[in-house]
Amino acid sequence: MNIVMMGAQGTGKGTVAGILKEELNIPHISTGDIFRKNIKEGTELGQIASKYINDGNLVPDEVTNAMVKSRLNESDCDNGFILDGYPRNIEQAEELDRILEENSKKVEYAINLTLEMEEIMSRITNRRICSNSGCKEIYNLVSKPTKVPGICDKCGSEILQREDDSDEVAIKKRLDTYFSQTAPLIEYYNKKGIVHIVESNKAPKDIVEEIKNFIR
Ligand SMILES: [Zn+2]
Repeated sequence: MNIVMMGAQGTGKGTVAGILKEELNIPHISTGDIFRKNIKEGTELGQIASKYINDGNLVPDEVTNAMVKSRLNESDCDNGFILDGYPRNIEQAEELDRILEENSKKVEYAINLTLEMEEIMSRITNRRICSNSGCKEIYNLVSKPTKVPGICDKCGSEILQREDDSDEVAIKKRLDTYFSQTAPLIEYYNKKGIVHIVESNKAPKDIVEEIKNFIR
């Protein structure tokens, strides 16, 4: 089962992919994780990528593509994978098709998690994270509050709002960029007839059930 997961920040994409991975027994591959792993292990691609990142630049497509390719060629991807955060644009989607084609594979499902803009904003601005770097438990003032206000249930540390999550104008800008980038991607996969839209206004495990129903 070769799955591409799409969904804006706040749709719970990472959480859903995490559950789905356990249930389908295939790896959840996020570009963030691939970057971190390559950089940590000091691979050639990792060294190139970290140069861009340290200079405050975006990692070019060809570097990202090469990292994804090497990850997809690992044996745990033989029975499928869940790609999260990749592809980000048509060029990457076409490259992904080429990478898979070399192994007679293809993207079988493009899952698009959707949510009303208002709900996305509410989820992001109400998000709080445990300030203990060894814990980092995520809360939501509305949907997942702490038992004692302001205090992490797990470790007793203070919970904080990430700076990124407090500026509504910046969040809207980030979301606009995301939607303008992904609209052509959705169209690309739509032409292949493999897009499944899932409304993410429900519990992550219900979303996973819905996804499992149509990939069966
Ligand atoms: Zn904590």
